[in-house]
Amino acid sequence: SALRLVLAKQILSGHSFRRCYASIPTTKNFINGEFVESKTTKWIDLHNPATNEVVTRVPESTKEEMEAAVASSREAFKSWSQTTILTRQQIMFKFQQLIKDNMKKLAANITLEQGKTLVDAEGDVYRGLQVVEHCCSIPSLQLGETLHGIAKDMDTMTFRLPLGVVAGITPFNFPAMIPLWMFPMATVCGNTSIIKPSERDPGATMMLVQLAKEAGFPDGVVNVIHGAHDSVNFICDNPDIKAISFVGSDQAGQYIYERGSRSGKRVQSNMGAKNHGVIMPDANKESTLTQLVGAAFGAAGQRCMALSTAVFVGEARKWIPELVERAKKLKVNAGHEPNADLGPLISPKAKERACNLVQSGVEEGAELLLDGRDIKVKGYEKGNFVGPTILNKVKPDMTCYKEEIFGPVLVSLEVDTLDEAISIVNSNPYGNGTAIFTTNGATARKYTMESDVGQVGVNVPIPVPLPMFSFTGSRGSFRGDTNFYGKQGIQFYTQVKTVTQLWKADDAGITGTATTMPI
Ligand code: NAD
Repeated sequence: SALRLVLAKQILSGHSFRRCYASIPTTKNFINGEFVESKTTKWIDLHNPATNEVVTRVPESTKEEMEAAVASSREAFKSWSQTTILTRQQIMFKFQQLIKDNMKKLAANITLEQGKTLVDAEGDVYRGLQVVEHCCSIPSLQLGETLHGIAKDMDTMTFRLPLGVVAGITPFNFPAMIPLWMFPMATVCGNTSIIKPSERDPGATMMLVQLAKEAGFPDGVVNVIHGAHDSVNFICDNPDIKAISFVGSDQAGQYIYERGSRSGKRVQSNMGAKNHGVIMPDANKESTLTQLVGAAFGAAGQRCMALSTAVFVGEARKWIPELVERAKKLKVNAGHEPNADLGPLISPKAKERACNLVQSGVEEGAELLLDGRDIKVKGYEKGNFVGPTILNKVKPDMTCYKEEIFGPVLVSLEVDTLDEAISIVNSNPYGNGTAIFTTNGATARKYTMESDVGQVGVNVPIPVPLPMFSFTGSRGSFRGDTNFYGKQGIQFYTQVKTVTQLWKADDAGITGTATTMPI
């Protein structure tokens, strides 16, 4: 009878667990203008990183649902590509206003699903909003070129025309900004877009497409499907999808670049990073240390442009103890708590990985000046928190230097000369971003010219270009040849048609058959 009691208890708790589980809200697909429940049997639990409680269940969209999204995009393209550019511009104006009006709600969702602080989450939305604002200039951005009189009575002109159905695959760390790098740029050029947001925090994308619908995007112009590998493979292989924008890790980015290219698609792939900040002894100490701390530990280091590696040149190394003191003062807490400077990492696995990399640094001979691995946050004991951590005397052959840690961990190297610093930066396979801190113009110029990195800041720790420029990560941080947003974004989402036409004012017509190339 004791056994029966145990069994009964297990059945009862299983039952209530199932009931409880069923009451957890699900994330919907967004197909042809409707939010639709997936019929899948495969669900991914999404946890609040500060508590590890399940917030929503994300479907792995079925093949039929993904095919429905493509069919809807293909159909919508027929009319959307024919709308006037001014119509698309007007919709973008409305969309940008709606994003502004809903900034706080979007930020709250990002904090819930991704963990970053509320203020930083607003920054996430704001940087995406700037891309939408830039899209409002589409009549100028999509201008072609003309050359009058290339032969007698003959002119040539180019048009920038949309590609058709395009897709975007996004990472977890900027749940609003990165989808906004993609579908507004794609659609304003006349394409239709399918987004596969990160399965770890798709909520902001869902809110954004709701706003897009309110702004007047016709049904099918943007569709959202969910999942992980299967949905990615579907996008790479589907012949109706003409281009893929990807942002995320190296492993996924290289795979998607290769698989997508193999099936004839245009692919732009932004990947991992290891960004170096070079600190010269002539730098303004106060502002350099303030900027370093913000750029290394902000967003818990989960930014592809985080300044995760400091290279102290010469006497600048004397500032390291003060850097440690400043880092100690940062407040680690759940993102919605007032005054939190950094929130949790996205998952227990991400925390474990970051902690293991710190340990590898210790074992390989680095000096652990600040250790945030055992931090406890009151009220959020189950959260994935790591406090600011600093490893000094790191060498380029250490694992903690070679791997992107993607946590609030600064690795610090000491060198004697600027040339040594440049050699370290250029020997690193990544080329996303870098910064130099100096008060000497010639030093700054030498560094900007000689460092082989796509985005360089001079006394600017995270030099992410605004959308009138493009995001130009290079080398190991990028695959493809046209970057995200700005002029390059327009190029990525359009193809050029060149028309050469002959209109003679008189009706003389063409005389004499030419069978040779004209010279
Ligand atoms: P991730 O690669 O794990 O996930 C990104 C997307 O790829 C997700 O939608 C996911 O479903 C899919 N995916 C994941 N693994 C896959 C696989 N093996 N095959 C196919 N698809 C896969 O990346 P993440 O952890 O969400 O994001 C963090 C990474 O993104 C970091 O490396 C960071 O540097 C990078 N990132 C780069 C930039 C940039 O502009 N260079 C910007 C933001 C983030």
